[in-house]
Formats: sequence, structure tokens, C-alpha cells
Amino acid sequence: MPIVAVIGDGQLARMMQTAAIELGQSLRLLASSKDASAAQVCSDVLLGDYTNLEHVRLAALGADAVTFDHEHVPNEHLDALIAEGINVQPRPEALIFAQDKLEMRKKLQSLGAPVPPFARIDSLEDAQAFWDQVHGEVCLKARRGGYDGHGVWFPDTQEELSTLVQELLEAGTPLMAEEKVALRGELSAMVARTPSGVTQAWPVVESVQRDGVCAEAVAPAPALPVALRQQAEELSVSLANGLGVTGVLAVELFLCQGAQGALELSVNELAMRPHNTGHWTQDGCCTSQFEQHLRAVLDLPLGDTHTTAEYTVMANVLGAPEDPVMPMQQRVIEVMRRYPKAKIHLYGKEHRPGRKIGHVNYCGEDLAHTRAAANAAAYFLVHATWPDHTSEH
Ligand code: ADP
Repeated sequence: MPIVAVIGDGQLARMMQTAAIELGQSLRLLASSKDASAAQVCSDVLLGDYTNLEHVRLAALGADAVTFDHEHVPNEHLDALIAEGINVQPRPEALIFAQDKLEMRKKLQSLGAPVPPFARIDSLEDAQAFWDQVHGEVCLKARRGGYDGHGVWFPDTQEELSTLVQELLEAGTPLMAEEKVALRGELSAMVARTPSGVTQAWPVVESVQRDGVCAEAVAPAPALPVALRQQAEELSVSLANGLGVTGVLAVELFLCQGAQGALELSVNELAMRPHNTGHWTQDGCCTSQFEQHLRAVLDLPLGDTHTTAEYTVMANVLGAPEDPVMPMQQRVIEVMRRYPKAKIHLYGKEHRPGRKIGHVNYCGEDLAHTRAAANAAAYFLVHATWPDHTSEH
């Protein structure tokens, strides 16, 4: 049976292992430590550094495909592996557009995908010119390495923008800026594509962000007009083809109000791997994103992506400012008792404020109840108390 080498050791690799077990495949991990989330649950673990070509090469040895749970492996290493005949999926030519936000914006624009106005920022003059161009509605971004809102800034004044740009450029952070759009919501359109070019999209979901972090994903996106749903789905497929992505692609989308008052989509970001907004597929869809990623990178037939419930809500479990005294094991028991339908997924991670340590999926017929249940269960896992609005349960 196939061996897939995964460069990375986080929860995404951990959840790929669940799918690999069921498919009879085995994963080989390149992990930073044996305690890392995925390393805890895999038997074939190589400890090493993904920025070291020799380590990546060792992990890839004899694997049927090499894939990733993050996009930070240097592309020159991947080029070297490909030159040696190793099957790397997705390819570095596609990955670059998930690594560098400016390259991504330029490419999306050339493919005709809707994006907010943007500019490369190399100097204070660039920043001032862009401020004027978008009438002060500026979102400044680090081009590389941002996650969960780290690396995104919304300066209120020109002075604030200048100070930020000066500090960041001095610290060696390559920058871009884009228009701060008037958000009505955020969506995620996900698709899988095989090296042979077969694609299979999932229903579009709504993602709810709190403090720059995904808090909740609702599948399918409620109250989304059919035309926008179709547009989002088609966009994900055309981008997967246009960029030559293999494996899972997540297209994060802004839903905003256009000049004529109608709702419009524009692309925020691309991720070429399973994504937080696709976790609902584990319990609410025929084929989970983790299984589909493995099928896709191995060029196997893709699985069906119909939903198995009216609604599935995923709520993230993010470490509280202070970890409650009640042990996590006890919190899990309380949630199991109150919500027997809740599917709890924990990543084996130690508590840290704001850290993603797990998620809850809840499937149901009634949207309001499903959302309330998913959020209450996640809230209890975080705080060891029930939120007020669900005290009637
Ligand atoms: P990260 O790579 O850290 O996830 P994103 O670029 O996705 O960063 O931005 C994080 C969040 O910031 C987004 O989910 C959105 O809520 C907000 N945001 C990002 N870009 C813009 C923008 N141009 N206009 C308005 N809000 C934005």
C-alpha cells in the first residue's frame, strides 16, 4: 500500500493519519519533535528540520508522494527533490502562490479572479501613494509567514501606517498593502485536484472570524445567494486548474458590498493543503478533506463530496487566556454527556492562550440549534463553563 511522506507535524498531518489508517496507507512524517501533534499518532516519524534539504530528502525516500501540512518548505528544496524523480504534490510552481501574498495577488489578477486593489510596499513613499489611492482604507500585510491574523494590520491614520511600514521594513519584513474591504462575511471554497487534472469541489462554507482567527465554519454557507455559491465553487475549480494545484486547495473569500450595492466576492487567500474551514467534512460529508487530500496527491479517484447532514457547524477550541482548573478529560466528559451528537476532535496539544487545540463538529437539521450546540460544546472545552445563552439546554 502507498506511503505518503508529510512534511509537517501539526494537527493537519495528525488528521491525515486518521484517513491514512482507514485507507490502509501509511504516512511518514518529517516532524520537529516526537511530542508534536502528528508525531504522537504516527509510527514512521523522522525527526528533522524542513528547511534542511537532507532531512526532507530522507523523509521522501521511497515514498509514493510527498506532501505538506504547511507551506514553508523552501521551494529550492522541492525543485531538487523533483529533479531526483521524487513525486512532490503540490508542486513548487503552484505553492509559491500560497507562500507569498503579493505573488498570489498578481497571479490571481492575471487569471481574472476578483481581488481588492493592491500594491507592493517597499518604501514610505509606496505606502503614502497607496493610502491616497484607496482613500485611507488600507490593510497592510506581511507577504510571507502570516497566520491567524499575525502579519495583518489596519492602520487608522497615515502616521500609523508610516510608523508600521518603517518598523517592518527595517526588520526585513517584505510588505504589500491592499484595500480594506467592507466585509459582509467570509467564505471558503474548497476543492481537490489530482495530478491528472480531475477536480471535485465541496459546498462553499461561511467562516466566522474572531480577532483574525477562524472561530466557526458553517456548511453549507447559510443564506448565500445561489449565483454567488456557484461563482465561488467555479472560482475554486478554475483556480485549482489555473494554478496547477494538486491535493486540497482552500480559497478564502471576502463577501463584500460592491459599488452598486450588490454582494460581490473577492479572493483573500489560498491554502494548498487541508484547511481549518474544511474540518466539517470529517463528520458532515461523504469524503473528508484529509482523505481527499491523500487520494488526490496519489492520483487516485476522488471521493464524493455531498453533505450527509442539512448543516454541519465546526467550532474551534482555542486556548483560554488561562487554562481552567478542570482537566480537559473532565471537560470532554461533560460535553459528551450534554451533547451526545457532538464530535470532539482534539489535537494532543498543550494549552497556550489562543492556540488551536481542537474543534467540535455538530451536524443537524436546524441551523440555529446546530450552531448553538457546536459553539457551546467548544466553549465548554475552552472555559469549563457553559455560555449563558445555552443555559436552557
Ligand atoms: P492570515 O494569513 O493571517 O490568515 P488574512 O490575510 O487571511 O491573514 O487576514 C486575516 C483576517 O483579516 C481575514 O480573515 C479578514 O477578517 C481580515 N482581512 C484581511 N484582509 C482584509 C482586507 N483587505 N479587508 C478587510 N479585512 C481583511
